[in-house]
Amino acid sequence: GAFGGNKVDYVFKTVLIGDSAVGKSQLLARFSRNEFSMDSKSTIGVEFQTRTVEIDHKSVKAQIWDTAGQERYRAVTSAYYRGAVGAMLVYDITKRQSFDHMARWLEELRGNADKNIVIMLVGNKSDLEAHREVSTEDAKEFAQMENLYFMETSALEATNVEQAFLTVLTEIYRVVS
Ligand code: GDP
Ligand code: MG
Repeated sequence: GAFGGNKVDYVFKTVLIGDSAVGKSQLLARFSRNEFSMDSKSTIGVEFQTRTVEIDHKSVKAQIWDTAGQERYRAVTSAYYRGAVGAMLVYDITKRQSFDHMARWLEELRGNADKNIVIMLVGNKSDLEAHREVSTEDAKEFAQMENLYFMETSALEATNVEQAFLTVLTEIYRVVS
C-alpha cells in the first residue's frame, strides 16, 4: 500500500492435501520462498507458510497449510480444514495411485470444509513426462465432473506453480469480495 505500509486486507487460508510424496511441501516452498529441495524431509505436525500478494489493488495474505506427514496416517484432522477458503488437491502425474486417491481426498475435504471452498486439482511433477501415468485428459475429465480448477505443475521447474496458487487466490477473492 501507500508509504510502504503492510496493511493486509484479506487473509485466505488454503490447505494442501493429497498422498505423501506428491510434492505438496515443495509446491509450498516454491510459492512461498521460491525454493525447491530434491530430498525434502517430512516434518511432524501441521505447519503453514504465508505469502502476501496483490489482487485487485488489495493486499491478500495467503496462509497455506501443509499436512506435514499426517497424510501417511490418514490423520488429517478437522482442525486442518477449519476456516479454509481454498484447497489444492495434489497428485503426482507419475503415480497413478495418487490420482486414484483424489476422489477420497475430495470427499474428506467436502465433508470438512466450507461449501464455498475454491478447489484446484494439481497434477505435479510435470517435468517427469517420460514417467507419466496419468494423462492430462483423464485429469481434466475428473476436474470437470467434480467442478474443480485444474493445472499441471512442476515445483522443480517452477512451471505453473505461481499460476495455480494465484488462480485459487483470485477466485477466492471473487467469492468473498
Ligand atoms: P509431500 O510429501 O507431498 O510434501 O512431497 P514433497 O514436497 O516432500 O516431495 C516429495 C519428493 O518429490 C521430494 O523428493 C521432492 O524433491 C520431489 N518433488 C516434488 N515436486 C517435484 C517436481 O515438481 N518434480 C520432481 N521431479 N520432483 C518433485
Ligand atoms: Mg510434505
